[in-house]
Amino acid sequence: MFTRSVAHRIPLRAFKRWAHTTPTMNYRSVTEEDVAHFAKILAPSSVLSTLAPVSTPASELSIYNNDWMNKYHGKSTTVLRPKTTKEVSEIVKWCNERRIAIVPQGGNTGLVGGGVPIIDEVILNLGNMNKIRSFDPVSGIIVADSGCVLEAMSEYLVPHHYIMPLDLGAKGSCQIGGNVSTNAGGLRLLRYGSLHGSVLGLEVVLPDGTILDQLSTLRKDNTGYDLKQLFIGAEGTLGVVTGVSILSAPAPNASSNVMLALPKYENVLPLFREVKRQLSEILSAFEFIDRRAYELAVKHGQGRALNDEDVEGAECFVLVETSGGKREHDEEKLNTLLESLMEADEPLINTGVLSQSPLQFSQLWAIREGITEAVSKEGKAYKYDISIPVASFKTVVDTTRDHLQSKGLLRDDAVKHVVGYGHVGDGNLHLNIVAAEYSPEIESALEPFVYELVQSYKGSVSAEHGIGVMKTHALQYSKNATSIDLMRRIKTLFDPNGIMNPGKVLP
Ligand SMILES: Cc1cc2nc3c(=O)[nH]c(=O)nc-3n(C[C@H](O)[C@H](O)[C@H](O)COP(=O)(O)OP(=O)(O)OC[C@H]3O[C@@H](n4cnc5c(N)ncnc54)[C@H](O)[C@@H]3O)c2cc1C
Repeated sequence: MFTRSVAHRIPLRAFKRWAHTTPTMNYRSVTEEDVAHFAKILAPSSVLSTLAPVSTPASELSIYNNDWMNKYHGKSTTVLRPKTTKEVSEIVKWCNERRIAIVPQGGNTGLVGGGVPIIDEVILNLGNMNKIRSFDPVSGIIVADSGCVLEAMSEYLVPHHYIMPLDLGAKGSCQIGGNVSTNAGGLRLLRYGSLHGSVLGLEVVLPDGTILDQLSTLRKDNTGYDLKQLFIGAEGTLGVVTGVSILSAPAPNASSNVMLALPKYENVLPLFREVKRQLSEILSAFEFIDRRAYELAVKHGQGRALNDEDVEGAECFVLVETSGGKREHDEEKLNTLLESLMEADEPLINTGVLSQSPLQFSQLWAIREGITEAVSKEGKAYKYDISIPVASFKTVVDTTRDHLQSKGLLRDDAVKHVVGYGHVGDGNLHLNIVAAEYSPEIESALEPFVYELVQSYKGSVSAEHGIGVMKTHALQYSKNATSIDLMRRIKTLFDPNGIMNPGKVLP
């Protein structure tokens, strides 16, 4: 029977790739004259530079120069933290005229090295632009500076009974401008769709400093090309997003979740079909966690471990969330589902752990949300965030593990684990290879192997994290030559001097 409670029961590498693929790029490094100019535009606390006249200790720039995974390391001398769109515009104009390259940076939680410099580009960090500009309680449209932290926006909406249409494990640090620029997916995409639908307008500083004001609050607007879509997922290569208008969603009156333990992976798809059929409009998340990913989360203190008897014999887990308008109605639906699953002649699940309180609800989510962090605590992660048919999730994880085994790399001092988890509801698998250290040997065993595997399923090499610096060479596995050529022409149109986040996205 069901458990009713949780508790009781390049730097060199990147540099080489850059130097190799962009030999004609010719950017100027920031000089003391530039820093003196930035100091005239910005408040003193908004300019960090190891150069005179500011002379910040290099150690203070370290968090901006290194990415979240500590995999990509830049050597920027200067970090600028503007407070207004006008300041952003003046900085960008100056840099464009002097051919100084810029990396726009939000919360620096990106997982493909897009938000840190490759060499010594200026880092334009948007964290000081963090004001909510307006909120309409009737339409639910919220307009905010791009540096607003996602979690802060969610908290702002609570008393108004709305929620942000996206949620992710990095919500405490990532910014809405970074979310838009990566077209972040996350845990609510199944219910609320992608940012291409919920973002209604953007304010963007173009690479020549022009402010493009498209901060519309209209649900419908068919007046020609929808330019804002180009910046959603552009990873800072076309301009700096400074303002975002986004449609929030009415807060559900009741939410519940249950962790289901499955005896075999093959049951995931039939389970998804059944869950969708029975829960229909109240289903809000369907997340997949393989056994090793679960064990790593628990080992590194993410959430609260399930009881041994709930885990026993489970090959993988699925976290189902419901969100709806009426608690009794939703609970009845969920209970009916759980009973039918357990009483089936050939049950798809071994057992399930249903949360009984807000604390238990959060503890179950913490297991799933904490996997990214657990993986990075366990070792150095090679992260492949791929879209493939759901039926092939397990094959892809197993094939990758077998491949590494055949190369003799599956051992404690090389590759420690191959794990899979992700957003089954969106066909998005996070394939993580956890190594003792980043090494060229492991990387060459994984690439292009993984990308070719993805291509064989006609999948995408980046479901939601973007291309950044990590996957520029892999873009060709998911985009044909005509598409890449068109992307390049769009880039040149917006940014003829190529100052905006060079070496990212386009090979
Ligand atoms: C624990 C954890 C869990 C995560 N879970 C998810 C998940 O479920 N789904 C998901 O999609 N991602 C996830 N991510 C990845 C990451 O959080 C997202 O990509 C997020 O959207 C990045 O936002 P950021 O503000 O940190 O951007 P950054 O990392 O600072 O930048 C990311 C990219 O956007 C550009 N950029 C940032 N701000 C701007 C701006 N204002 N204008 C123009 N360009 C800009 C940067 O140049 C860079 O290319 C996770 C990361 C972590 C660490």
